[in-house]
Amino acid sequence: MSPQLLEQLIQCLGKSAVLDHPSVQEAYLIDQRGYYRGAASAVVRPASTKQVAEIVMIARQFGVSVVPQGGNTGLCGGATPDDSGSQLILSLEKLNTIRDVDTVDYSMMVEAGVILQNILDTACDHDLFFPLDLAAKGSCQIGGNLATNAGGINVLRYGNARDLVLGLEVVLADGSIWNGLSNLRKDNTGYDLKQLFLGSEGTLGIITAAVLKLFPSPMNRKTAMLVVSNPKAACRLLGTVRSISGDAVVSFEYIGREAMECVLSGMNVTDPFNKRYEHYVLIELASAAGGGILDGMLEQIMEQGMGSHGIVDGVLAQNERQREALWHIRELISEAQKGSVKNDVSVPISRLPQFLEKAAQCVEATSPGSRPCPFGHIGDGNVHYNILAPQSEEPADFRARSGEALIAAVTDLAMSMDGSFSAEHGIGQLRLGMMERYKSPEALGLMKKLKRSMDPAGVLNPGKIV
Ligand SMILES: Cc1cc2nc3c(=O)[nH]c(=O)nc-3n(C[C@H](O)[C@H](O)[C@H](O)COP(=O)(O)OP(=O)(O)OC[C@H]3O[C@@H](n4cnc5c(N)ncnc54)[C@H](O)[C@@H]3O)c2cc1C
Repeated sequence: MSPQLLEQLIQCLGKSAVLDHPSVQEAYLIDQRGYYRGAASAVVRPASTKQVAEIVMIARQFGVSVVPQGGNTGLCGGATPDDSGSQLILSLEKLNTIRDVDTVDYSMMVEAGVILQNILDTACDHDLFFPLDLAAKGSCQIGGNLATNAGGINVLRYGNARDLVLGLEVVLADGSIWNGLSNLRKDNTGYDLKQLFLGSEGTLGIITAAVLKLFPSPMNRKTAMLVVSNPKAACRLLGTVRSISGDAVVSFEYIGREAMECVLSGMNVTDPFNKRYEHYVLIELASAAGGGILDGMLEQIMEQGMGSHGIVDGVLAQNERQREALWHIRELISEAQKGSVKNDVSVPISRLPQFLEKAAQCVEATSPGSRPCPFGHIGDGNVHYNILAPQSEEPADFRARSGEALIAAVTDLAMSMDGSFSAEHGIGQLRLGMMERYKSPEALGLMKKLKRSMDPAGVLNPGKIV
């Protein structure tokens, strides 16, 4: 890095907020999955929106680009710099103040670096609820969640991250600050600018603060893990549960045998059932109304669904401890099958059973003996169709030998069924090739035009998304 650039950064932020030595940068340079390793001229840690804006202006002046980074839990390498060693990593970790909770507007104003778990806890302290929930909540930041339009376990009822935002504050590529921190529920005055930045993975602007939607706290929760005869029965069950519960379903998660096996054998967890099954669904109903409104509903669903309707077995959580134990299984799946080939696809819910059947055939044809390990948010049509190495092969060798072909096979199949090649994890650098392959020329052209017009000098996270 040029001494002049370093001097200006230190002048702006103070010495302790500029990490220019590789020995203190390590954690910022590698992505969550260890797929990417970059280099940076410095990691800068501003503590205010104004400082973020100043850094972007300095970066422009010196012709270097900026990679925004939140909790660095993203799964596509979006927060990892390239290997040139010239980029600046801009960590939002010091912008971590919860500015306001408004119990009349049902909103919370937060800075981008607030850890998601702190937002969930703060909402709870006010007897309110913020529905974004994912296994990385203890370390991901809300800015990262919004920049990746994260999904998680409550999308069925509350939508993705982009549905949970009322307003944003964003530093633009020219260093100006767009203050869109509105908490209005209705504002139909032209283009909805905040939507441009939600899911843009730091390529169009740096989110510095947001106004989030809050909801009444679910007083009542009912959770069950049911065993179904096949994926078709699982999808039918979703419709039944939605209609019987008056659409009180917040989560509807699928766990296939291999995924369950990984958790039971690798993570020292007890099987909630005393028999081995192939297909499980984790269902959670929730209601903000008191008075036991959900009592007996899951029992009714089980009774109706047993036998010919495809439910084979089930356990109902009788208390919070049992509920947490069921969720623990779901949350451990990613960690339990580290080293697998990963896919994050979606298809229309009605086509999921066919997708799962055909995907298993494609996998066997592409790499015989490999073990499909599908699980995920099937209530949203989203399957993490991960694939484990054959028992006899090392995961790293398997990924090197078959990873690319397996990903192409599963993704081609999802796309042929009107699906998406990235349901919730985003693009980053991991899926750049897929953007070229699967996006229509019109869609891709429009995205590139948008990027060029909002960031003509390519200051913000170049080489990601487009
Ligand atoms: C165990 C585990 C479970 C997960 N489960 C889910 C899940 O269920 N659903 C789901 O959708 N995702 C899931 N994820 C991935 C998810 O995208 C991230 O966890 C999270 O949303 C990213 O937040 P982060 O703060 O870590 O962002 P980072 O990883 O730091 O950054 C992600 C991207 O956002 C950009 N960015 C970060 N902060 C800002 C900002 N303030 N302004 C502009 N751009 C910014 C970065 O440049 C990068 O492109 C999971 C990850 C893990 C490790």
